[in-house]
Amino acid sequence: MCIFCKIVNGEIPNNTVHESDHFLAFHDLYPKAPVHVLIIPKNHVDCFQDVSPETMAGLTEFTQEVATKLGIDKTGYRLVTNNGKDGGQEVDHLHFHMLGGGKLVWDHHHEDPHKSL
Ligand code: 5GP
Ligand code: ZN
Repeated sequence: MCIFCKIVNGEIPNNTVHESDHFLAFHDLYPKAPVHVLIIPKNHVDCFQDVSPETMAGLTEFTQEVATKLGIDKTGYRLVTNNGKDGGQEVDHLHFHMLGGGKLVWDHHHEDPHKSL
């Protein structure tokens, strides 16, 4: 069972922000912003590429509720999902990172295979 499924069933503790029958939001263990929350479906889905539109519909509404609950719905936030190897996905259970609580930098880059080290 994956670590986020263990969080859903209570085997691994978490700091819950918001919960419904189908979704869970909890604080990231290693926050990369003043607010860094992970939003997941309770049923295991590997990644964004595999998720159904029906699940995403529910997840959209739930995500909006999370932002409101955190008080960042008006100040703004960033939603990120890392999909697969090149996307940098480390936990293979679909999750959206909600980042906010301060002005965020936009600093994407990729590893240049031609760069000499
Ligand atoms: P990914 O790199 O897959 O997009 O993101 C995985 C995220 O899960 C990382 O930001 C990491 O800090 C977080 N994470 C990994 N293990 C745990 C855990 O056991 N508990 C919580 N709350 N977050 C975790
Ligand atoms: Zn899982």
